[in-house]
Amino acid sequence: MTTLVMKFGGASVGTTAALSQMLGIVLYEAAQWDHVVLVVSALDGVTDALIDAAHLAQFGNERGYRRIAANLRARHLALAEGLQLGKTELAALQADLDKLLFDLLSAFQRITQKNRDALSAENLDAAVSMGERLAALIVAVLLRQHGLRAVAIDAADIIITDANFGAATPNLTLTQERIDRDLRPMLERNILPVLTGFIGATPTHKPTTLGRGGSDYSASILAVGTKATEVWVWSDVDGIMSADPHEVLDARVIGELSYNEMAELAHFGARILHARMVAPLRQHQIPLRVKNVYKPQLAGTLIHAKTGSDNQIKSVTQIAGVALAIDRSGPYGEIANLVDQHMQREIGTSSDVMIAAQSAQRTFITCVVPASAGPDAVSALVESLGRELNTTGPSPRWHVQQVSIVTAIGDGINSVPRLAAKLFAALGDIPILAASFGAGGCSLSLVVSQAEADTVLREIHRVAINS
Ligand code: ASP
Ligand code: MG
Repeated sequence: MTTLVMKFGGASVGTTAALSQMLGIVLYEAAQWDHVVLVVSALDGVTDALIDAAHLAQFGNERGYRRIAANLRARHLALAEGLQLGKTELAALQADLDKLLFDLLSAFQRITQKNRDALSAENLDAAVSMGERLAALIVAVLLRQHGLRAVAIDAADIIITDANFGAATPNLTLTQERIDRDLRPMLERNILPVLTGFIGATPTHKPTTLGRGGSDYSASILAVGTKATEVWVWSDVDGIMSADPHEVLDARVIGELSYNEMAELAHFGARILHARMVAPLRQHQIPLRVKNVYKPQLAGTLIHAKTGSDNQIKSVTQIAGVALAIDRSGPYGEIANLVDQHMQREIGTSSDVMIAAQSAQRTFITCVVPASAGPDAVSALVESLGRELNTTGPSPRWHVQQVSIVTAIGDGINSVPRLAAKLFAALGDIPILAASFGAGGCSLSLVVSQAEADTVLREIHRVAINS
């Protein structure tokens, strides 16, 4: 039995043109595989709009959140109308969408009533989970209209998580039970389930989300649970690139990556896949493909367990960080905790020390700021840390600065020093503040000042494409 899990992101369900691409792909693949499982994200921008609306609700701005809900309604209904459904199908779909939108307004009302002080992650999850539910309904109806036995399934009934709202972790045992009980029998009856990505629920049915971009992670959990043959993630780029094409013009698609390389890439700033999706696939050796919905004929990138490494630098990423330095050697646990507190407060995520370097008279640590935190997060963090460090504590004082962590990724990089040598040679006289081989065995990270980051990125990329 072959099973294909396909995840379609917001850009590949957001417009009528994208939906018709998706339809063609699903019709074709449904004929190639014994079972197909779909995972869909909310339409482009919908999750952001829902978060904005929830904040308006928190401040009692009823007109504000109602306006956003009305826009969402108009957008989903227009998409439904563009599908050229029969009259009854369209009316039924509109009624289903309206029921969800009604529940959404109730969720906002609850936020207004309860959350004058802080918007709880629990109430936020209840509201933002609606985006994926709306999208799954539309996709399932479209597929049914074209002869597939598709059914929209709310992943809150399948993916059971802990109660860490906003970044929940699935409970694999409970989730497996649901998959075996509810999903497996559908597949055996040749039903094509269209699951909502991104969302789950606690064992007591409270809606949770798996973190921004979490639909990828949903696809990977469902692939493990259904013992899938492969997982394909469809987006609007040609695959995983050798660098961010916005930063490096001659970036190109990478044909193949190992699970380790992909995990490091996601960890160090490549935004295309959710960082937590790789580990379950690696553990169960399920191959992953990243493909472009607009060019399904292209192979995209294949991520799998490669035998042997091909000893080359494949990709280079850049991520923002904060570096802290002090003119003494000694413990740094306290300062790491302080960074963590500020990061929790400013960005809502916890921090990890990525690189720590010490010598006789100096300590230097670097913490990564996740890409999901947004462009202004690092400067806000550096400022708030700087303020505290300058007013409290004895001297010498910790000095804080915004840095970039540029990471070269490739399976041989830790074991074949020649690769690292090429890379250092390419950097000429650019100062490196700290360097570290990744614990994952296939990455080398360099901490550089923000001003040098783009040059370092481009120089390493040049080595990558020539290696
Ligand atoms: N819709 C969610 C988000 O925007 C999840 C996803 O797209 O994967 O983060
Ligand atoms: Mg994504």
